[in-house]
Amino acid sequence: MEERFVLGIDVGGTNIRVGLVDEQFGLHEFKMEKTANITADGNTVENLIELVKKYLAEHAEGKQVVGISIGFPSTIDKSRRVILSTPNIAGLDNLNIVDVMEEKVGIPTFVNKDVNMLMLFDMHHGSIPEDGITTGFYLGTGLGNAISINGELLIGKNGAAAELGHIPTRDGESLGKCGCGNTGCMELFASGKYLQHLCDTCFEGTFIGDIFEKHGDHEIIHKFVHDLALPVAAEINILDPDYIILGGGLTQMKAFPKDLLEAAIHEHARKPYPEQNLKFVYSVPGQENGVIGAGIHGFKQLDRKAGN
Ligand SMILES: [Zn+2]
Repeated sequence: MEERFVLGIDVGGTNIRVGLVDEQFGLHEFKMEKTANITADGNTVENLIELVKKYLAEHAEGKQVVGISIGFPSTIDKSRRVILSTPNIAGLDNLNIVDVMEEKVGIPTFVNKDVNMLMLFDMHHGSIPEDGITTGFYLGTGLGNAISINGELLIGKNGAAAELGHIPTRDGESLGKCGCGNTGCMELFASGKYLQHLCDTCFEGTFIGDIFEKHGDHEIIHKFVHDLALPVAAEINILDPDYIILGGGLTQMKAFPKDLLEAAIHEHARKPYPEQNLKFVYSVPGQENGVIGAGIHGFKQLDRKAGN
């Protein structure tokens, strides 16, 4: 049988990454370009469609592309067709991207939240079984979270499940409003955005990429890492997961204190269980991860459509 491919796309606030994923989840023709290239003139959707068409014409000639699968940094509706809100990219919201893409490109299209795609990659890469509960914590500019229960990504009534960064606290109230409009959200202090704030206000002159190496022993940084553990431990105490994936830009920074983070998670996990049986898996850094994860999602959805 002719080899089949899914066109995987990872739309980020800074870069768009594209590639063809085969059925063994190998990646081909990986390309990356600036997100600004498609948003600058205000026609984000039209430009995204053009990008897809151009990519297919240049890199997929003669190949059987059976699906398009796109990860967005967005809230997506329960049907996984409509983008509801995208804080960092203009021109995508309230749009049935699946209908538009299928009409203009003519290939079955699937979309999901970017962190869901990342976790599908991490589960594949780490040989994590689908049975059981896996939680993914992506500590980046914000606080991303994905939950898989027996191979099903948790989506929720409105498609807004696993918004872990918006756990309310009293501590965060002094930090102004969250991007969601509320005050007190954990993401206000458990995120890369807050680390940048600490860097600017407490460690003037330090490049953020060096902050753990230069100031990792400082009590402010200790408290920051400790606070990152709070939402993670909260979710662990609710779900008692089989696997805990830790990833995102913060965990991949130079000299990031993994030991300190894990110790703080243990400190706040309920005793004796789940605390005595936590299984941490770290994401491996990779520009391609979200594209491969999107490909995995695409093949899974195609299998489901076919009734397998
Ligand atoms: Zn919030």
